[in-house]
This record gives sequence, C-alpha cells and structure tokens, in this order.
Amino acid sequence: MRLEKYLADSGIGSRSECKKYIKKGWIRVNGEIVKDGAMQVTEKDIIYYMDKGLAVHKNLYFMLHKPAGCICATKDTTQETVLGFFEPAIAKHLIIVGRLDKDTEGLLLLTDDGNFSHRLTSPSKHVEKTYFFRADGILLPEAETMVKEGIDIGDEKRTLPGILKDVRIDEKNNCCEAYLTICEGRYHQVKRMVHALGAEVTYLKRISIGNLILDADLKPGRYRALTEAELAMFGIESRK
Ligand code: URA
Repeated sequence: MRLEKYLADSGIGSRSECKKYIKKGWIRVNGEIVKDGAMQVTEKDIIYYMDKGLAVHKNLYFMLHKPAGCICATKDTTQETVLGFFEPAIAKHLIIVGRLDKDTEGLLLLTDDGNFSHRLTSPSKHVEKTYFFRADGILLPEAETMVKEGIDIGDEKRTLPGILKDVRIDEKNNCCEAYLTICEGRYHQVKRMVHALGAEVTYLKRISIGNLILDADLKPGRYRALTEAELAMFGIESRK
C-alpha cells in the first residue's frame, strides 16, 4: 500500500496530515527518510514516525451466511445472535453491518471498520441489496412497474425505485417467488413491499450487497474473510 495510507491507517493522523509529516522528513522507512508518500510499503518494512515504530492494524471484514433463527444483535439473554458463530476473541470487535430479520437468511457483513459499516448502511449511500423471496399469494400484474416507480408501504415517503425480476407464479398453489433489489434498509422493507404487491413473504434470503454475492460454498452459520478483490469492490485498497 502507499506510504501515506499506511501512516494514516496506523492512526498517527489523517491522510493529509501524514502527507505533511512525510514532507517534513519525519518518516523513515527501513532507516531512510522518505519524502514520497506514494512509495509502496508492506508489513515487512520497518516504518518510523519521529523515532516511533508504527504497526498497521488490519481491519476485519467477514461475510456470514446467516441462517434463519438467530438475531442481528451483539448480545441477547435468550436468543441466539449472529455473533455466536464467531470466536469470542473476534466477536468482541465486530460491528454487524445492517440488520436482517430473525427469519431472514443470507448475506450478512461483519467488520471492525466503523467507516465501512457506515458507508454500507447510511440511507444517503443507496447501496443495492438483492433478496430472493417466496410468498403466499400472487403478485399484482403491475408489480414490476410499481417497484420501479416506488411503492407506498405506509411510511411518509414511497420507497425509492427498485427492481423486481424473474417473477415466477404458481397459480395452482397460489404462491410465487422473485428477486427484489432495493437500495434502502427500512424496517421489514421487503416484506412490506411484497405485501403492498399482493402477497405475503414466507421465505427471504439476501443474496447480494452491491456487487458482492453470497458465496455459494458458504453453508448457513459459516463465515469467511472477504477477499482482496471483494474489498476492492467497496474501495478498500489492497492491504498487502
Ligand atoms: N427486508 C425485510 O423485510 N426483512 C429483512 O430481513 C431484510 C429486508
């Protein structure tokens, strides 16, 4: 990574402050004063700020395949929580990125990077999330257009435009299934949208957040670290 990012990640100052420290000659890499903030450094380099050795804290980024039946809370006295799938030593650092209902399965992100969590959950960022659902009842014929135009689900404002795709209707059993992409995170949003479209969700699974897709090899209750390529999708630079 670039020296100036390494310095900022180590906590000595903002990126622009670190640029100033470099210009002032306060930074040494492997014993030499370095004046180029773009220099590529790795964890093997020995980096000093005013004679103080620096180490970069590596953030944690995990995808969990959340099973139904557990809640998105850090602690609960009676119910199983998503943090229960992690070692306690890791779990104590983790922030749950957004919420899925107890009966919802699928892609859930956990991190110790508050900035990352904020970027994904802030209502102003409009990050797309795609869900697969099955529902009792038949969606209205105009459902796709309604989703595209925004739906009144009983809140002050209609939902932002979303995408309803691959709708499959089973008239014989009076049920349906489809994929719904939304870019907000309102309370029970998918269930309330499907209700407004004429059906009742019976099964819900989140399959993607932005371009990140739930790993098909990840069994419910299992997690793994995000890869460098996946982190790059969210603008997180390689940490090598
Ligand atoms: N929408 C819902 O209704 N429930 C979830 O868990 C996520 C989105």
